Amino acid sequence: MSMKDNDYICPNCKGHLNVGDYLVFATRTQRKHKGLLMMSPLVGNYEYVHHNNFVLNNGEKVDFECPICQSDLTSNQNIDYAMIHMVAENDGSEYDLYFSKETGNKSTYLVANDVVKSFGEDALDYEVLFNE
Ligand SMILES: [Zn+2]
Repeated sequence: MSMKDNDYICPNCKGHLNVGDYLVFATRTQRKHKGLLMMSPLVGNYEYVHHNNFVLNNGEKVDFECPICQSDLTSNQNIDYAMIHMVAENDGSEYDLYFSKETGNKSTYLVANDVVKSFGEDALDYEVLFNE
């Protein structure tokens, strides 16, 4: 599936987070610096771009907000992850997409019903991360 053509949606306002070839987030670092972050919509691709004046240190936790409604996208299941919805372009199926809020951490989980797909070299056991 060509993930680039999927829709990525804020779970709160249902607004579209994908613009062109990027997902757009309003972010805030632990040092309270704010900036827009543009991430690849390809699940498992951890490239991102931002303004040169916005500095992200490796390992730094970043809060992700919806740029449309300003809601905090932190997952209810695990505060170290952000969660958005993904709608697959090919068949309209919906997923919960979890990604790490830590800069440089490569772990992403795609969840639909009871099926979990994990991506990235830092991905851990989903059951351990998200079951209370
Ligand atoms: Zn929103």
